[in-house]
Amino acid sequence: MPTPDYDPQNIFAKILRGEMPCHKIFEDDVALAFMDIFPRADGHALVIPKTPARGFLDMPPDALGPYMARVQKVAAAVKSGMNADGLTIQQFNESAGGQVVFHLHFHILPRREGVALRPPGAGDKASIEAHAEKIRRAIEAL
Ligand code: AMP
Repeated sequence: MPTPDYDPQNIFAKILRGEMPCHKIFEDDVALAFMDIFPRADGHALVIPKTPARGFLDMPPDALGPYMARVQKVAAAVKSGMNADGLTIQQFNESAGGQVVFHLHFHILPRREGVALRPPGAGDKASIEAHAEKIRRAIEAL
């Protein structure tokens, strides 16, 4: 059951239901991963649970472990597929915490030594699909 303050019309719920497109990189019964449409780094990916949770504190504890295993799996593929030096993994809760889309998600940001993150909303959309394909291949190789 969704938590009472979960809005089933949020963008990620629509992506989960197939009502909005995404550059999908991974899906199973627990989670869906796709590319962030405004990438703050090349290869910026999001991992969302299929459980309708608004934020981290709303996720049932028994569903959290399986979800985090998927976050880790996608993170490994983002790092190897993008040949990154490191990763930044972020998760925001409520507007005060920087959350904009109210369905739980983790950001996976591949990082290169000395390269700063781009500001929110400033990414290059044209290369997203090429990066998605690199990450898909890395997931298959895990
Ligand atoms: P936040 O809720 O602050 O963690 O940020 C939500 C993230 O979702 C931002 O990085 C947006 O660029 C990203 N985003 C918003 N709409 C979409 C979409 N339709 N497909 C992929 N990413 C999105």
